[in-house]
Amino acid sequence: MTSDPTTSTQPSSLWAATAVAGPDTPPLLESREVDVLVIGAGFTGLSTALHLAERGTSVCVVDSQEPGWGASGRNGGQVNPTLKHDPDELVRMFGERRAEPLIDAVSKSADLVFDLIKRHDIDCKPVRSGWLQLAYAPKDVEGLHARAKQWRKRGVPVEMLDSDAVARRVGTRAFAGGWLDSRAGAIQPLSYTRGLAQAALAAGAAVHSGSAVTSLSPQVSKGSGKWLATLSTGATVSADRVVIATNGYTGPLWPGLQSTLLTANSFIVATAPLSRAEANDILARGETASTSQRLLLYFRKDSDGRLLMGGRGFFSDPKNASDFSHLERSLELLFPQLGPLKYEYRWAGRIAVTRDFMPHIHEPAPGITVAVGCNGRGIALCTSFGKHLASRLTGGTDEFPYPISPIKPIPMHQLQRLYIAAGVAWYSLLDRFG
Ligand SMILES: Cc1cc2nc3c(=O)[nH]c(=O)nc-3n(C[C@H](O)[C@H](O)[C@H](O)COP(=O)(O)OP(=O)(O)OC[C@H]3O[C@@H](n4cnc5c(N)ncnc54)[C@H](O)[C@@H]3O)c2cc1C
Repeated sequence: MTSDPTTSTQPSSLWAATAVAGPDTPPLLESREVDVLVIGAGFTGLSTALHLAERGTSVCVVDSQEPGWGASGRNGGQVNPTLKHDPDELVRMFGERRAEPLIDAVSKSADLVFDLIKRHDIDCKPVRSGWLQLAYAPKDVEGLHARAKQWRKRGVPVEMLDSDAVARRVGTRAFAGGWLDSRAGAIQPLSYTRGLAQAALAAGAAVHSGSAVTSLSPQVSKGSGKWLATLSTGATVSADRVVIATNGYTGPLWPGLQSTLLTANSFIVATAPLSRAEANDILARGETASTSQRLLLYFRKDSDGRLLMGGRGFFSDPKNASDFSHLERSLELLFPQLGPLKYEYRWAGRIAVTRDFMPHIHEPAPGITVAVGCNGRGIALCTSFGKHLASRLTGGTDEFPYPISPIKPIPMHQLQRLYIAAGVAWYSLLDRFG
């Protein structure tokens, strides 16, 4: 399948309308054997395939739709090298010996994204001007500055900002302060995903769209520990190892996996391009931004000076403009100087939230690796998964930094709509009164 708009399965969004064309990735029609089969062509699957192919491994990526159809082609494009948990909290959770390599991998994950963009000449409008995390209340600013200090202790250049400094950078007086994480940046995420697909192909990987894996089972006849995947096209893939990289779009393929994840929608709106004078006063240096509440809002400008605002996840797919109205109200409250705004794009995608807010790597059977649960922070993280998984799968000597855990379904997962609705209501109460 090509990214020709007449055949692309991309949902409509700002990114789909402005992305570079992707490489040709036709459905897999003939059965084949490979070292590694990767299921899912988002950041996780494509970064894994690229790094495996660079190590000389034969690898085939299949996607039920096309590269970037999932969250990778629909997100906010904010490249943030952080987890939901702060570094000191990770040390408390995992102990220093296990936590420090994890913190180091996460911290270097944005470097990895921008290095790959440079090395493979990926045309995805990269800007590396940092991420601003902003708080409305002075007491929350203290918490953000404490977070910044934890990273500073680890050598990360950060800035702690008061209300005036935020107003100068962001163009609004709505915030009491915040911090700047200078490792972070912004990209056009669908172009980045397509660039990864192109780079993986150039390195020798195969990438196939329109090829859903409908079943996965041990290849008993060969008795060799291989796995056999059957595709929606009727072809099969026999592989020594399989990487499941389906995140928020995980289905029932692997027993119990789907019920380890709460899959909520995150929504984004994008305005028409602002005038140069208007754009110059808002996030003038190209920073990305988000608020520090539990139900956070994230915003940035794109390369044409549009303002993007994203936030709040619900389970159901968006039905109409009213699903997006809280985002539009938020933009207009933050930047009243812009007057009424014209909106050109509204879209949504699914994030995969885990119970412990940690990414989940599972190895539920010999030869099977699962990498899911990016909790809305996947651009840098999933790219980093790919690099480290490729090393692990090919016997690399470097320590694998991400914790490996058993698959543990969330009790009563069938009630996830209720969990999410209750979580949204509870968090919005805490954000207001907590
Ligand atoms: C609206 C939104 C905004 C976000 N904003 C940000 C942000 O600003 N910064 C950030 O870092 N992160 C952000 N995220 C999170 C980030 O986009 C995700 O963490 C990341 O894209 C996950 O990548 P992935 O490769 O693991 O999964 P995905 O990109 O979701 O890809 C999974 C793929 O698996 C395929 N698939 C599923 N089942 C099968 C099957 N049986 N056979 C074959 N293929 C299958 C799907 O078709 C899909 O293409 C956001 C997410 C959303 C939805």
